[in-house]
Amino acid sequence: MRQLIIIGSGPAALTAAIYAARANLNPLVVASSVDVGGELMNTTDVENFPGFPDGIQGPELMAKIQAQAERFGAEIRYDDAVELDIAGPVKRVTLGSGTVEEADALIFATGSAYRKIGIAGEERLSGRGVSWCATCDGFFFREKTIAVVGGGDSAMEEATFLTRFASKVYVIHRRGELRASKIMQERAFANEKIEFVWNSQVVDILGTDAVTGVVLESTVDGSRRELALEGVFVAIGNDPRTHLVHDKLELTAEGTVWVDGRSSRTSVPGVFAAGDVIDPTYRQAATAAGSGTVAALDAEHYLAALGEAGTPDPAADEIGGRAHVASPAV
Ligand code: NAP
Repeated sequence: MRQLIIIGSGPAALTAAIYAARANLNPLVVASSVDVGGELMNTTDVENFPGFPDGIQGPELMAKIQAQAERFGAEIRYDDAVELDIAGPVKRVTLGSGTVEEADALIFATGSAYRKIGIAGEERLSGRGVSWCATCDGFFFREKTIAVVGGGDSAMEEATFLTRFASKVYVIHRRGELRASKIMQERAFANEKIEFVWNSQVVDILGTDAVTGVVLESTVDGSRRELALEGVFVAIGNDPRTHLVHDKLELTAEGTVWVDGRSSRTSVPGVFAAGDVIDPTYRQAATAAGSGTVAALDAEHYLAALGEAGTPDPAADEIGGRAHVASPAV
């Protein structure tokens, strides 16, 4: 049996792997079979990760973090965690291949998934003009008229990036002001190919085999109109990826995994969580990396206590009415 399994492959999971590997915990990282690297794999220039004054491409940053984890002995498995059995002292992770891995402790860092608008045309035309990833699909929209839905940093980043290909990019936002940071807003406002469609909600995506347009509804007076388009990029945020632990870990009202204060301790002893899956607010690569650090240190303390005392008493530390294993503050 292993000491530690880490589920995830974004900055939180892989930073946890660096720390855990350096602590000789020989972590197994279950990195997924398809989405390795997390959100940064769909990002172009990362300009705000410390240590890269000229910026770095998202995939390159992830490759560097992974190489750093592997250098210290982390084992990366390109497989999916499909089932968890984590209530008892032995944490069991069933993989897509059918293998069951066991460990004394688990770090859950599955990140977040693209949010969907939730309208019929979105699913039907997914991959046929509807996309969630400009860096993956932008190339297909050369000289086309397209739209980005959303008003946050992701929407501004996607829209700005897509102007490299498209002849025109509408940004459709449900309010009259953006949520995006000032610098991202200014970049989008200055781009001549971008036109903003304010106070509008996409209520239908039109087309049979390919996107031909959208139906917009005014959030001010409810009036509707059609806008002709050849592509729609949805950039309305992310939801924490918690489907594996819905009935196993306590969640917050925001849908993130509940952790105890500033620690990474979840409602189940020996299970720690980090990154976007616990963070409804900041969701930056740098904060995820910090969160992964906390999780690795918490897991290390838990495993050390386990080594000294055998199976820890789950009621050893009662915090807020919940049972927690005593773990020194980090
Ligand atoms: P976000 O900040 O949550 O913004 C989501 C946007 O989509 C908001 O403008 C929101 O509208 C809109 N929206 C949400 N649900 C919608 C729906 N059902 N229909 C229509 N519009 C909807 O998400 P994000 O832009 O993905 O950013 C997430 C985090 O990553 C942020 O902390 C951001 O700073 C960070 N990020 C940073 C960078 C960077 O620095 N380079 C790049 C990308 C992301 P309202 O404004 O009306 O709520």
